[in-house]
Amino acid sequence: MKLKLNFGRVLFNRSRPRSFAWAIASLLSIGSISAFLPQSLQAQYTPTAARQQNPWQYASFPVENFQAYTSGYGYRSSPVDGSSQFHYGLDLAAPIGSYVRNWWTGQVVELSDNTACGTMIKVQSGDWQHVYCHLMGRVQSDRNTRYLVDREGGIVLQLGQQVPAGARIARVGMSGRTTGPHLHWGLKYANNYLDPALVLQAMFTTEAKL
Ligand SMILES: [Zn+2]
Repeated sequence: MKLKLNFGRVLFNRSRPRSFAWAIASLLSIGSISAFLPQSLQAQYTPTAARQQNPWQYASFPVENFQAYTSGYGYRSSPVDGSSQFHYGLDLAAPIGSYVRNWWTGQVVELSDNTACGTMIKVQSGDWQHVYCHLMGRVQSDRNTRYLVDREGGIVLQLGQQVPAGARIARVGMSGRTTGPHLHWGLKYANNYLDPALVLQAMFTTEAKL
């Protein structure tokens, strides 16, 4: 299944940071991804009445002040060194310092700042994992736990912490291997990567029906 992204600039409404409808209106329709949504997640986070028709209603668009999709999921030539590589996520450009919002209620299961991903958060929501890269701030450890600390952004995130959908969990930065400020957003379902654009498309399709 291949999805083409329109990389034209689609400005995001600052006053409605969780409204993603027109930010993703440029994505091609790819059918339903709701089949991926595990029953356990639906049962946990979605009221019974809404479950069937709108399984994505509590998902959040992952960044504020969205400007453009700058790189899609799949093979590409590396913007850093030109080599061919698989890009396991979707790049969303936003001004440096823009807040990153947690896509779905879950638990912080990994924090790191020593890979090409830069300062990174991984959140687990049932069978889903969502990863946020190139963030501001650093990871600090003490004897018992780890924290992502971005004091200027008012962010202190602890490993193991529960985070609700839509919560501001970090800010867009330029840590790790990147040529400009953007959020690299990765998604796994049952330990397999999938194209985050498919999920945004499903979220949009669902919202448009309401
Ligand atoms: Zn990326």
